[in-house]
Amino acid sequence: MLEANGLVKSFGRTPALAGISVAVGEGEIVAVTGPSGSGKSTLLHCLAGIIRPESGHVTYAGTRIDTLDEAALTKLRRTTFGVVFQFGDLVPELTALENVALPLLFNRHGRQESTSLAGKWLTRFGVADCADRRPGELSGGQLQRVAVARALVTGPRVIFADEPTGALDSRAGEQVMNALLDSARDTGAAVVLVTHDNRVAAYADREIMLRDGAVVAGVPQ
Ligand code: ADP
Ligand code: ADP
Repeated sequence: MLEANGLVKSFGRTPALAGISVAVGEGEIVAVTGPSGSGKSTLLHCLAGIIRPESGHVTYAGTRIDTLDEAALTKLRRTTFGVVFQFGDLVPELTALENVALPLLFNRHGRQESTSLAGKWLTRFGVADCADRRPGELSGGQLQRVAVARALVTGPRVIFADEPTGALDSRAGEQVMNALLDSARDTGAAVVLVTHDNRVAAYADREIMLRDGAVVAGVPQ
């Protein structure tokens, strides 16, 4: 469903990706692992259409996405893909509820419908009591659950998560992972999960291990 072929990407003289090919199936949960600097984040950014590879292809559902124009990429990221980063990345001026409603408003849903759906997702992730608080007033675990709710509220087919629990203690991390993966399994969304934590990788169906911008192992679990 999501495929990368021969991805190359460098930053200056540093090759971050040295011709990587990977494939993610419908509803599959894949962990991308490897040491710091091995190209995990860069791979995720290329797959999610956040950055463009210098060479190679990325296709989603049979369509090349690395050659789409910005408008088409923005649409894809708003409707079909959902992204969660290590540090919530929420809009600091908006409340948790407003943050989660925002992607729906971008997708031209009405204000009332957006707010009501956002509230349901906050409840589902156990952070309904945070609805009226701004990101600065939330704990790390609460922030990440709100960020996951925001990534899932539009019903994406692929969820990209870059060290989503990297800043959390193990209990909060577990809650965030369970919230993310339960919802993905319910909706049949695929998950591409970047992590250097073996406990997080253990949640995945399959692990793609990187070293120096290349795949060293893709072990079925
Ligand atoms: P991790 O190994 O946990 O992914 P890193 O420190 O390698 O953490 O990367 C964290 C983020 O910083 C990534 O999103 C990556 O794209 C970015 N990054 C890494 N190295 C550089 C760099 N030399 N210059 C700018 N950004 C970088
Ligand atoms: P990982 O996520 O595995 O830590 P990254 O994809 O973040 O690895 O980084 C791979 C390599 O590319 C590293 O050498 C890193 O320093 C470099 N890099 C990543 N992002 C940037 C950036 N924005 N600017 C410069 N170098 C970067």
